[in-house]
Parts: sequence; structure tokens; C-alpha cells
Amino acid sequence: MEKKDFIVVGQGLAGSILALDLLKQNKSVLVIDNGELSNSSRVAAGIYNPVVFKRLTQSWMADKTMPVMFEFFKEAEKLFNTKLIHPTKITRVFASEQEELLWKKKTVNELSDFIDAEIHLAENEYTFLNNNYGFVSQAGFVDVPCFLARTQNYLEQHTAYLNETFSYEDVVINKQEIMYKDYSCGKLIFCEGHLATQNPFFKEIKFKPAKGEVLTIYCEELKATSILNKDFFILPLPEAHHFKVGATYNWDDLTDEVSNEAKQTLTDKLNTLIPFSYKIINQQAGVRPSTIDRRPVMGNHSIHKNIYVFNGFGTKAVMLAPYFSKHFCSFIENKSELFLDVDVKRFYARE
Ligand SMILES: Cc1cc2nc3c(=O)[nH]c(=O)nc-3n(C[C@H](O)[C@H](O)[C@H](O)COP(=O)(O)OP(=O)(O)OC[C@H]3O[C@@H](n4cnc5c(N)ncnc54)[C@H](O)[C@@H]3O)c2cc1C
Repeated sequence: MEKKDFIVVGQGLAGSILALDLLKQNKSVLVIDNGELSNSSRVAAGIYNPVVFKRLTQSWMADKTMPVMFEFFKEAEKLFNTKLIHPTKITRVFASEQEELLWKKKTVNELSDFIDAEIHLAENEYTFLNNNYGFVSQAGFVDVPCFLARTQNYLEQHTAYLNETFSYEDVVINKQEIMYKDYSCGKLIFCEGHLATQNPFFKEIKFKPAKGEVLTIYCEELKATSILNKDFFILPLPEAHHFKVGATYNWDDLTDEVSNEAKQTLTDKLNTLIPFSYKIINQQAGVRPSTIDRRPVMGNHSIHKNIYVFNGFGTKAVMLAPYFSKHFCSFIENKSELFLDVDVKRFYARE
């Protein structure tokens, strides 16, 4: 029987970030993931954006999570000797004059660290736009597919990766350790994304998964170097003339199948914003692991204290997971308590 300090189930953004943090602390880790199962991280545009456009407020805890996100992915860039972070401004195309006025107001105080004060006139840089716009300067995207592939490679090199479907029935729980097939571990951590809705150990968690779809388009005439946003995004990719367009939300169909409906929704939005012809070269779908209160969920099982969950990153895994991985690691080392907002205990029945 091979002994590990930790078994982590799932190698999406959550499991990958956590496993790298644990390895950095010289813990022995085994990550179990079936690459064929649903994985929303592979579909994610990887955008980090500290601003919630609907209310023009700071995204939850952005001032705390962003610095940790940069630190984490910069370290990963060094570890993997590859570029992962692509700082790219977001061009917010105002939907109305009220939004433009509110933007001006917010640059003075609460959003001054994240957005530029200047209002840009539509006739200047992006002449095809009908409305004025402002820039979110502290934004960009992480190359998530590259990060996942490099992490898997790294785990394989450290004999820390097993490609299979984890079967919950094969877990044997003892007080000091947990047995799983040929392995034993001190702690078992579940990071299965939305598939956690099938996890018998954490049935109490109220997930509200949301399917999302994105298109990749080829458009020669669109000269955007920033991420265009008007209730959907057009993200310029490193490959010339390629853009990611998204994303949709669907709470009823939780499959990974792409749909004509989502394609139509996205092309309708595209056609109202850009007057250029384009070719759709790819469409992808994934399911975001959101919770009903839209906060991450982490902590231990109500009885088996060495079984844990680290999940629920919804629409914002890139910005939140690095910060909360550190927060969670400190909790499992008994160094600190979890914030009540993210603690799995909020879903347990009150005694
Ligand atoms: C269209 C779309 C666009 C998005 N854009 C962004 C964005 O721009 N920025 C952002 O921050 N977030 C974005 N997100 C959200 C982001 O993708 C998720 O928050 C994030 O991927 C969740 O990561 P995760 O590791 O929790 O889950 P996942 O990425 O789903 O990973 C879970 C892993 O667990 C594995 N697994 C599950 N059960 C088992 C089992 N029994 N045995 C073995 N393996 C198992 C799965 O195979 C999978 O690999 C987007 C999501 C979608 C759908």
C-alpha cells in the first residue's frame, strides 16, 4: 500500500492549484482525475476582472484575492517555464448614459484602483462601437488549458497523478488514515467541480451548477487588443485574429453538449456589437460549479474529519482559487479557522 499525505480528487483549477500548494509545502500528494469526465476549467476563458458591471462594484474580495492570484500564477510560470498570465484591459461598452455617469463617479473612490478615470468616445479607438466606453485596467486572462496541461505533466513527473474515475465505494475510513484501493492517505480532499453533486460524503451542499458555452471565432477585421465587454465578452487570443466569445448561462441543461441555442444567443450579441464577418471555428460547453449563495465551499465532513471538500468557485475560479487554496491549507494544518462565508458548515443542519 502506497502512503500519501493527501489524495485530491479532480484536476480542474481547484484541484490543480491546491495540489501545487500542497507539493510546495513538501507534502506527498496523489491527484486522481479522469480526463474524460466533465471539466469546466478546460472551457473557461480564464478572465480575471475585479469589477462587477451590473452594479459597478468591486468583485467579492478582489482587493485580497487578486494579489495572491498574481503571485500564484507568476510562480507557476517560473515552475513550468511558460507564459500563463496575459494582462489585458477590459473595454466596458456602456449600455446607457446612466452607466457612464456612474462609471465617472466610481473612478473617484471605490473602483479607483481597478478602472481608468477617462471616458473614451466611441469615435476614437473602436470606431465601430455605438456607445462610449471605459477601461478596466487591472484585468486580463490566464491560459487555463496550458496551466492544466503543465500541472498534469508536473504531477506525473512527481508520481502524483492517477488517471481514473474515483469510486466513492472504495473508500475505507479509519481514524488515522483513509484507504483507497492501493493507497492510504492522511486526508482526502474532493475537488470534483459540478460532479460533486454526486458525492455521497457532501450531500448537504446546495450546489446550483450553471452550464456555459463559448465560441472561438476567426475575424480578420476586428483589431481589438482589449477584451470587449457588453454583457458578453470578446477576448482576443494570443493567436492572430482569433477571439473567444462568451458566455451563456443555463441552469436546466447540465450536460457538456454544445447547443444551437447558445450559438444563436452568442452570434446575435456579436452581430449587434461588431459589423465584421467572422468564421466560427469552435464551440465548447462546460458546467460551472456554483453554490446557491455563490460562494466557494470548503471544510471537512461533519463526522469524518479527515475528508474535505474544496469547490464551488462558480464563475471566478481564476481569481478566487489561489487565495482560498492558501486559506484552506492553513485550515487543514489547524493554523486558522475558515471564513464563515466559505465554510461547508453553513450547509450542515444546525444542532
Ligand atoms: C463557459 C465558461 C466560461 C468560464 N469563464 C471563466 C473565466 O473567464 N474566468 C474564471 O475564473 N472562471 C470561468 N469559468 C468558471 C470556471 O471554469 C470554474 O469556476 C472552474 O473551472 C471550476 O474548477 P473546478 O476545479 O472546481 O472544476 P472542474 O474544472 O470542473 O474540474 C473538476 C475535475 O474533477 C474531475 N472529476 C470529477 N469527479 C471525478 C471522479 N469521480 N473521478 C475522477 N475525476 C473526477 C473532472 O474530470 C474534472 O477534471 C467559466 C466556466 C464556463 C463553463
